[in-house]
Amino acid sequence: MNTESKPERAQLVDIGVNFHSAQLAPLTDQLLMRARAANVAQILATGTSAASSRQALELARAHPGTVFATAGVHPHGAKSFDADAVRELAELWKCPEVVAVGECGLDYNRNFSTPEAQRMAFAQQLSMAIETRKPLFLHCRDAFADFHDMLAPVVADGARGVVHCFTGNRAEAEAFLALGLDIGITGWVTDLQRGQALRDAVPAIPLDRLHLETDAPYLFPKNAEKRRGHNEPANLPWVAAGVAKLLRRDVDNIIQACTSNSRRMFGLPGH
Ligand SMILES: [Zn+2]
Repeated sequence: MNTESKPERAQLVDIGVNFHSAQLAPLTDQLLMRARAANVAQILATGTSAASSRQALELARAHPGTVFATAGVHPHGAKSFDADAVRELAELWKCPEVVAVGECGLDYNRNFSTPEAQRMAFAQQLSMAIETRKPLFLHCRDAFADFHDMLAPVVADGARGVVHCFTGNRAEAEAFLALGLDIGITGWVTDLQRGQALRDAVPAIPLDRLHLETDAPYLFPKNAEKRRGHNEPANLPWVAAGVAKLLRRDVDNIIQACTSNSRRMFGLPGH
């Protein structure tokens, strides 16, 4: 009998999955099963509106210890940010399963809401976030200067958080790190065309400030062996492999560091 036990594979944490999206919503149980088989032990369900944040909380309650929720209003939906949303978010942020304030931030790429509406919704969520003492789950696209200016005083007041799905360049990564924010990396890093600026930036991110995420159903990792149409949390090991290859590090090493960073940042139970 072989008594030698296999070395335990490092567990992953996916800090960004849009379970409420039309692509993923009908598949929750399968997605969680495949995630577990891929060693993705814990997942943050992203809330992008009051309604989807409520759904994320319900999902977290149905899968305690595995799924956790964020609650916030995404810049795309900033135009519908009103007193009702503020009340609803304030309720959600009191729940222990809600481990982050967000997704919130600025996105001037497509301006689904006007920049003014985005800044108003972001400013309100930032000021409320301080009181929750929960970390921020941040989104920034094509809005670096305004985003950085709005965050700096809040971080100086004690807020912390992750710039999720970071796709910027090295100087932007360094500026966020200098503020004290962590960085979340998706399959964008495996895209040799449009991911080039990010690939130059990743080596500048200290290993204790890095988080991994799929941002499923978006951003299918380009290095994945098979394609299933849309991205899902079970593909997170491909993101880890992409980062490890880029940094010429052992993949377990990357996974262990990122898992411990994410558990620490969001207060997730460890194993
Ligand atoms: Zn985002």
